[in-house]
Amino acid sequence: MAVNCGIIGLPNVGKSTIFNALTRANAAVANYPFCTVEPNVGIVEVPDERITRLSEIYRPKKRTPTNMEFVDIAGLVEGASKGEGLGNQFLGHIREVDALVHIVRCFDDPEIVHVNGAVNPKRDVEIIDTELILKDLDSIDKRLLRVEKKAKSGDKESVREATLLTRLKEALSEGKSARQVPFSEEEAPVMKELALLTGKPILYVANVPEGDVEKGNAYSDRVVEIARQEGTECIIISGKIESEIAVLSPEEGAVFLKELGLTEPGLARLIRASYRLLGLITFFTVGEDEVKGWTISKGTPAVQAAGKIHSDIERGFIRAEIFRYDDLIRLGSAQAIKEKGLLRLEGKEYLVQDGDCVYFRFNV
Ligand code: GDP
Repeated sequence: MAVNCGIIGLPNVGKSTIFNALTRANAAVANYPFCTVEPNVGIVEVPDERITRLSEIYRPKKRTPTNMEFVDIAGLVEGASKGEGLGNQFLGHIREVDALVHIVRCFDDPEIVHVNGAVNPKRDVEIIDTELILKDLDSIDKRLLRVEKKAKSGDKESVREATLLTRLKEALSEGKSARQVPFSEEEAPVMKELALLTGKPILYVANVPEGDVEKGNAYSDRVVEIARQEGTECIIISGKIESEIAVLSPEEGAVFLKELGLTEPGLARLIRASYRLLGLITFFTVGEDEVKGWTISKGTPAVQAAGKIHSDIERGFIRAEIFRYDDLIRLGSAQAIKEKGLLRLEGKEYLVQDGDCVYFRFNV
């Protein structure tokens, strides 16, 4: 299963605008085979200038960047946890994604109705949080009911689980999210199984008017502050600009960005931040045939990273020959890397790093 980010937020905050810009921009950019898995699922290229720089050195026949998946989760409204709107169905969709991108409306526009009257980022964030917390409390209560019986009979594992569930319940009842509740290594499997909505990594997007992209505005300041308190990121973008860029050719898009005093689309920042949020890193395979980026989770051993390319390489793994992307750019060629003794040989257990250029030796 692909790792993915779900786009959430109140109605009319710009979710679809940003989702469509994400997917359309990808369809427009070069020849990347954009695919729509379902109408609300899009696979987008992860902008990474390292692919371009590596291609300048290797001049490959093919260049293949990494990609990631976004899901547009519409329909979250106040009362969703009680079945309002399409409530439970949408909360179910949120359960299936690995991380959340919460879009917050930071633009005034009398033409576009705000579901709660006026723009108020703090209240909007709280409405969504409350729905997610209520749904989580529901899951926790159901589980507690099952576990408490066994805990009473003295089953050690159930006692431990009940303690964790009670701790979570207390925190969530105070309006905290599961993300803020520390847990031990022993408790990690239960946390994973619970898959609480407020336990998923989250980042915020402040959707601001065109003129406010560079400096933000009073609304986005609130969102930045919320993100800071939660120890996460807030990306400031203008859905309107993004949707306009998305339909331009890359050349026209570049001119348009320059006129606005910007160096890259906000979506590029959003995609990269989401990729980081998911704990993903990129390693490269390089050569005259292809320069390709591969996505792995941080902390993946070389033998498993090899399996991403082909199960045979994992099965017959001998060693990984690795040099750093930065060293290659600094020295200019793979030959120079060798001469400087910067080509390393690593075994199965080596944890592949972001920016490693890898050649796997294997034998099957
Ligand atoms: P969703 O319900 O969150 O998916 O919101 P939509 O993306 O459908 O946007 C709702 C309305 O707001 C649409 O008419 C958009 O054109 C408009 N909209 C989205 N982003 C912006 C923006 O940055 N500025 C302004 N003024 N309107 C926007």
